[in-house]
Amino acid sequence: MLYPEPIARLIEELTKLPGVGPKSAQRLAFYLLNAPGEDVERLLGAIQTARERIRYCSVCFTLTDTDPCAICANPDRDHGTICVVEEPRDVIAMEKTREYRGVYHVLHGTINPMEGIGPEELRVRELLQRLANPGIREVILCTNPTTEGEATAIYLARVIKPLGIKVTRIARGLPVGGDLEYADEVTLAKALEGRREI
Ligand SMILES: [Zn+2]
Repeated sequence: MLYPEPIARLIEELTKLPGVGPKSAQRLAFYLLNAPGEDVERLLGAIQTARERIRYCSVCFTLTDTDPCAICANPDRDHGTICVVEEPRDVIAMEKTREYRGVYHVLHGTINPMEGIGPEELRVRELLQRLANPGIREVILCTNPTTEGEATAIYLARVIKPLGIKVTRIARGLPVGGDLEYADEVTLAKALEGRREI
């Protein structure tokens, strides 16, 4: 035992966080142990409040503290254009471009037969329900340029096109295999602008 048990447990829990290896976990643990009590209270409070108040928007399924979310509820947005993304963090990435004025639909994953994830496991049914609204003119497929992201885009294009709605795919130029969230705003804005009908 290198550490007293409570510290070892704290490090073990921190190691479960994404992107936190044993070294960073150790650094965070010692930071938390030395930090002023009120700072740690504030952190705990922020985690708890976020966990309690944040849920999925019942329209687009992004994370929100109001339902519908601020984007879905905004009359100035173009509700006839839906940008389909994999995760809520992709909505943030798109919003950072400040170029997109439509609304979103978050799938919560990609089709991945190897892991047994089909359209039923994603928010595809809810997307098709939204598309029954005659006001929808365009669906922009903004899944990541990965194998799963491409397969998901192809699947969605195949089911949406027969509905008579224009389906576009965000342009290449994004790093292949990369995530939307890692693309810089200019690259992402260009990819959006250069979208093509599929
Ligand atoms: Zn929403």
